Amino acid sequence: MNTWEVVIGLETHTQLSTASKIFSGASTAFGAAPNTQASLVDLALPGVLPVLNKGAVECAIRFGLAVGGKVAQKSVFARKNYFYPDLPKGYQISQYERPVVEGGAVAITLGRDAPEKRIRLTRAHLEEDAGKSLHEDFHGKTGIDLNRAGTPLLEIVTEPDMRSAEEAVAYARALHALVTWIGICDGNMQEGSFRCDANVSIHRPGTPFGTRREIKNLNSFRFLKEAIESEIRWQIETLEDGGEVAQATVLFDPQTGETRAMRTKEDAHDYRYFPDPDLLPLAIPEDWIQAVKADLPELPDEKRARFVAGYGLSAYDAAALTASLTTADYFEVATRRAGAANAKPCANWVMGDLAARLNREELSIAQSPVLAEQLGGLVARIADGTISNAIARKVFESLWSKEGQSADEIIEREGLKQITDSGAIETLIDEVLAANPGNVAEFKSGKEKAFNALVGRVMKAAKGKANPNQVNEILRRKLAG
Ligand code: ADP
Ligand code: MG
Repeated sequence: MNTWEVVIGLETHTQLSTASKIFSGASTAFGAAPNTQASLVDLALPGVLPVLNKGAVECAIRFGLAVGGKVAQKSVFARKNYFYPDLPKGYQISQYERPVVEGGAVAITLGRDAPEKRIRLTRAHLEEDAGKSLHEDFHGKTGIDLNRAGTPLLEIVTEPDMRSAEEAVAYARALHALVTWIGICDGNMQEGSFRCDANVSIHRPGTPFGTRREIKNLNSFRFLKEAIESEIRWQIETLEDGGEVAQATVLFDPQTGETRAMRTKEDAHDYRYFPDPDLLPLAIPEDWIQAVKADLPELPDEKRARFVAGYGLSAYDAAALTASLTTADYFEVATRRAGAANAKPCANWVMGDLAARLNREELSIAQSPVLAEQLGGLVARIADGTISNAIARKVFESLWSKEGQSADEIIEREGLKQITDSGAIETLIDEVLAANPGNVAEFKSGKEKAFNALVGRVMKAAKGKANPNQVNEILRRKLAG
C-alpha cells in the first residue's frame, strides 16, 4: 500500500517548581508587574556570577529516577548563543553534550484494549528560560518582560517514537501527569509551565525518515493535536504535489488551525555552544541520588500495578484512576471507607457519576464538594443493600449540594432506606396486581414486557425504595401462582 507513515518526536519545556530562579535568588512567582523580577544575574550584567539552584537539580534527579533514566554523575552547562529581543544577554545557559538525565521512557495506552507502548526519552537537560515578548498591548511596538528570564526549565526530549497525533497527545498527557505527580512542575499550561514543541515528518514505510518541521510552543493538548494534524495534512499535500519539505521551525495559529513557517531551522552548530566558563560542571554524588530515590512517592506505573493486583481492577480502570495523584488518592480513601471488597463499585463511581458531575461543573477532583470519605460511605450503603443504585444517585445529589453530611445522615433524614421487609413488599405487590388486571392478563398471555411494567408500578408505589431483587422474585412467584 502506498500510504504515508507519520513520525513525531516531542521536546517539552517543563517549568520547575522552585521558589527562586535557576542561577539567581530572584522570585519565579507568576504574574508580577513586568521587569520587577529580573535580577542582574538573570540579565548577565558585567561582573555578576550565576550560582546553581540546588532545588532545580533535585527536580532533575527526581525526574530521571521516575522515568528509569540515567542521572549523570557529571554534566556540563553550556552557552547557547543567539540573538532575540527577549534574550538581551545574547546566550541561554543550557546543557548540550552532557545533559543531567539520559534515557528512560514514558508508557502510553490509547484505549481500553490497546497494548501499552513505551515512548523512549533521549535526554532531559536543565536550562534557563528567556524573557517574553508582548505584542498585544503595544501599538506598533513590542514590550519586553524579563521576569521569566532565568526561570528553571527541564527540557525533556523523546526519540522519534510516536506515529500519530493521538500518540503524541497521549505521551504529553502521561508526561504532564508524571511531572505533577512527582511534584517538580505545577503543570499550569495557561501560565506556560508545560509547553511542547512537536517535530513532525512523514515518509513511506520501509524508507528512511522524512525531513521534519518543528512546531513551536504548543501550550494545550488540543492545540498539540490540531497543530500536528494540520502539519501532517500540509506535508502530505506538499509531497503529493511534487513539492519538498524543507527543515523549518513553524508556528501554529489556533485561529486558522494552520501551521506557517517562521524561519528555516538552524542547526546545532549555528548556536556556537561552548561550556559556560562561569559555572563548574555539575557533580551529583550517588548518595544524593539515593536520598532523592528514598523520598519519591509511589509512581504511576507502580500504583497501576498495585491497583490491578490488590483490588482486582482491570488495567484500563487502573490507568484511568492513576491519571493523577489526586484521583488515585481519592479512589483509595473512598475504597478504604467502603471496604476493599467494594473497590470496583468505588472505581465506577469515581470514573462515572463523580467524573461526569465534576466535568459538567468544570471542577477538578481536588475541588469536589463530595469528599472521598463521603463517596465511600455511599458505596458501602449500596453494597450492604441499604439503598439501591437509583436511590444512591439521589443521595449523591444531596451529598453534592449539602456539604459536610454523610450518606448515612442523608438516608436517615430523607427516609431513603430500602424496603427489604418481604411482608411490606408483598403488600405493595398485591395492591399493584389488584389495580392492574390488564398487565396481569398480558403477562399470562406470554408478554414478558408486561412483567417489567408491573415491576415499574411496584417501584413507583414504593417511591423507588423497594429492593429490586426482592420485587422481581416475589412478583414472579405471585404471577406463577
Ligand atoms: P533539535 O535540538 O535541533 O531540535 P534534536 O536532534 O535534538 O534536534 O531532535 C529534536 C526532536 O526531533 C527529537 O524529539 C527527535 O526525536 C525528533 N526527530 C528527529 N528526527 C525526526 C524526524 N525525522 N521526524 C520527526 N521527529 C524527529
Ligand atoms: Mg528542537
